Amino acid sequence: MRGGIDLGGTKIQAAVVDGDGRVAGDARHPTPTSGGPADVAAAMVAAMAEAARAAGVEPAQLEGVGVGSPGAVDAEAGSVTSARNLPGWEGTFPLAGTLQDAFGVPVRLDNDVNVATDAEFQLGAGKPYRSLLGVFWGTGVGGGVVLDGRPWVGRGAAGELGHMVVDQDGERCPCGRIGCMEAYAGRGAMEARARRREGETKLFEIMRERDRPRLTSGVWKRALKAGDPVATELVDEAVKAIGTAVGSAVNLLDVEAVIIGGGLGLKLGEPYVERIRDAMLPHVFADDRPPAVHLAELGDLGGAIGASLLVTR
Ligand SMILES: [Zn+2]
Repeated sequence: MRGGIDLGGTKIQAAVVDGDGRVAGDARHPTPTSGGPADVAAAMVAAMAEAARAAGVEPAQLEGVGVGSPGAVDAEAGSVTSARNLPGWEGTFPLAGTLQDAFGVPVRLDNDVNVATDAEFQLGAGKPYRSLLGVFWGTGVGGGVVLDGRPWVGRGAAGELGHMVVDQDGERCPCGRIGCMEAYAGRGAMEARARRREGETKLFEIMRERDRPRLTSGVWKRALKAGDPVATELVDEAVKAIGTAVGSAVNLLDVEAVIIGGGLGLKLGEPYVERIRDAMLPHVFADDRPPAVHLAELGDLGGAIGASLLVTR
């Protein structure tokens, strides 16, 4: 049994996974919104303890624990630097060492998008393929690349699909640059665009009714279902931007498959995977054999399952 923790900006997902990649127990805790890295680490320890209890083991009996983290991850040093979606995490924090002391077993770290891509490649929708592009459509848009059966991380920053340029004179991206795909498709950027048109949309009314602090994937889905014109227009633009960027990435890498996951990707599901595929096709140069496009199979637990795979490496 191995532990895996997916550390996200809104939730901490922990899972205990057996040798065949099956989930024996899992737990989800909200990510602290105040405090600092030590508070986030304490919440991770609590989530893992609960997942272990559900699986009928103690954390100390696990072979090890893997963690998929946002921010700049130094896997060798076991540290995470400037995870800006997490409270007070501008500097460097020794996350692996802190968790190791709490669990009494080895802890390994990697980037959240890399572990989610690896999970889909080894155990999910990417299993039949040797090369793929993982697209994680959430607050931002992350991308993971597997080439010839191995993850391609470049010098550590490969796969930044969200920052491929889809309009060189376009909107400003949360990263500060102009015209990135994420400026249209990241949930954070979509919320900022919706705010400018607050009077024309029910998005924020739905948010308040559902008692959510921000426009979550569920809020977007409800607004779409209600035919909200602003939500429909912004999601249409997001789909178009993702399709354009994925088409360009496919022209560069010629991968066999594209796997769509992330909070918004999973919530909107199969019909939107089809729509992203349709938006991609006009941009694919080798259009007689476009890649397969699938929805991520492991769902919400993909990140935690992928993190558990770090333990065997
Ligand atoms: Zn950007």
